[in-house]
Amino acid sequence: MKIFFVGAGTPTPTQKRFGTCYVVQIDEAYLMFDCGPAATHKMVKMGLFPTQIDYLFFSHHHFDHNADYPCFLLCRWDQSIGRENILQVFGPPPTTWITERLIGSDGAFSHDWRARVGHPGSQDIFVGRGGRLPRPEPHVDVKDIEAGAVIEDAGWKLITARAAHIEPWMPTLAYRLEASGKRIVFSSDTGFCKSVIELARGANYLLVHCWGQQETMKRAESRMITGTVDAAKLAAEAKVETLVLSHIGHDLDRTGSREKGLMDIARFYKGEIIWADELMTLDLQS
Ligand SMILES: [Zn+2]
Repeated sequence: MKIFFVGAGTPTPTQKRFGTCYVVQIDEAYLMFDCGPAATHKMVKMGLFPTQIDYLFFSHHHFDHNADYPCFLLCRWDQSIGRENILQVFGPPPTTWITERLIGSDGAFSHDWRARVGHPGSQDIFVGRGGRLPRPEPHVDVKDIEAGAVIEDAGWKLITARAAHIEPWMPTLAYRLEASGKRIVFSSDTGFCKSVIELARGANYLLVHCWGQQETMKRAESRMITGTVDAAKLAAEAKVETLVLSHIGHDLDRTGSREKGLMDIARFYKGEIIWADELMTLDLQS
C-alpha cells in the first residue's frame, strides 16, 4: 500500500507545491483524493497513469482541490480504449453538477469530445491505440455524498465525516480509509474539530492540511484550517501513530519557519511526524 503525494500544496503556487491531490494504491486498486492544479500531469511524472484510477473522492470544491478535474476526466477518457472500468466519482455537492457541466452533452468540453468522437483522424488515433469504433462518449458514475456516507469495494472501506472548513458556502468531507489492516485519515482543509478527531481516532496515519504558524493565524482563519498547534492537537486527541503534514502554506514551508513549526508541533504531539513534499511517495508497510 502506498500514498502518492501528487499535490501537497495550497491555492498559492510555489516552486515546490500547488494544490492538493493524493493517490492511494491498494494492490491493483488506485483511489484518488482531490484533483488540484496539474494533478494529471504530476501523477504521470510519478509513474501513475489516469486510466489506472477507478475512484475519485472530492473533499470540497475549492479550486486548489478540483481545478484539474476537467483535464483528468478528458485525459482519462481520451486514453481509454473501452476496456477500462467506469470512473466512480464521489464528493459533496455540487460534484454531480460540476461533472455534468464539464463533460455532459451541453458541457463546456462537449465540443472537444464530440470532435474526437466524430472526426476520422481522431478515430484513427483511437483505433491505433487499440480502441474499437464507434468511439464511446465520455461517461462517469458520479454521486453527491454527505458526511456519514460509507463507500466500500473489494479490499477497502471509506468512512466520511464533516470537516470544519468553509461552511455554509460549501460542505467539506474528511475521509477515513481502511484497507490492508491500515487506517488512514485525510482531514482535508479543516479547523480543529470534534468530527475529524472522532473519525481519526486510533488511525495509523492522519494527513492534516497545515496552513501556517499558529500564532500568526487570525481567529476566522484558524476556524477553517489548522495551524501548527491545532494540527498537533488534532493528532494528539485522536491518538494517531503518525501525523502527516500536507497542504503546507508558503510561509510555513520556508527554511527556518519549517523547523520552528515542527518544534511547536512536537510540544503537543509525541508520535511520528512526516512533512509531506509534493511528488513524494509514502510506503505503508503492513
Ligand atoms: Zn485547500
